[in-house]
Amino acid sequence: MLSVDLKVVGFARANCWLIQLESEKICAVVDPGASPRRLWKWISEKSLELKLILLTHSHLDHIGGAHYLQRKSKAPCLMHPLDIKNRWRWFGISFAQFTPVEDQQMFKLGSVTGTVIHTPGHSPGSVSFLLQDRLFSGDLIFADGVGRWDIPGGDFHTLVQSLKQKLEPFSDALSIFPGHGPSTTLGTERARNPMLRPGKPE
Ligand SMILES: [Zn+2]
Repeated sequence: MLSVDLKVVGFARANCWLIQLESEKICAVVDPGASPRRLWKWISEKSLELKLILLTHSHLDHIGGAHYLQRKSKAPCLMHPLDIKNRWRWFGISFAQFTPVEDQQMFKLGSVTGTVIHTPGHSPGSVSFLLQDRLFSGDLIFADGVGRWDIPGGDFHTLVQSLKQKLEPFSDALSIFPGHGPSTTLGTERARNPMLRPGKPE
């Protein structure tokens, strides 16, 4: 049984999600953007073994603590190659070793299988991580909003395509854990998020 906890970290108040598999005493973190010592303490106090560091994209507010956690845990840092390549440009300087992942690639957290979904637009190599009925969306989509496309590497049409095509197969019940702000569901966003309503620009 997966459970999800949140720590909000850093100047940009980014969401670092802790995905726990209590029965196996293991966990993954999504986007440890800052305060890695605090995150490591949190994981240690729960007596969990950190198995995976999942990075939705290379912006510093999402990867700033990755190197420290990798040093402590030896866990792989999963990131899309298009953002690995760009991380210098993004001020996301990190000495972590990144493991490249591609669209639809499966990964394992203990007995649970997850899937990488390439969801570019906020950055070229932005990905979302799907674990069971939970989507860790990074800065693709927020409760009542979407990620910025007006920063270098961002692209509005690509973001719209990702929102339309990549989220389309999922049911309303999909839980969304975004890179900033509260969690939501796909059904809620389909009802209220202007970027997900039909007839939006292609
Ligand atoms: Zn970002």
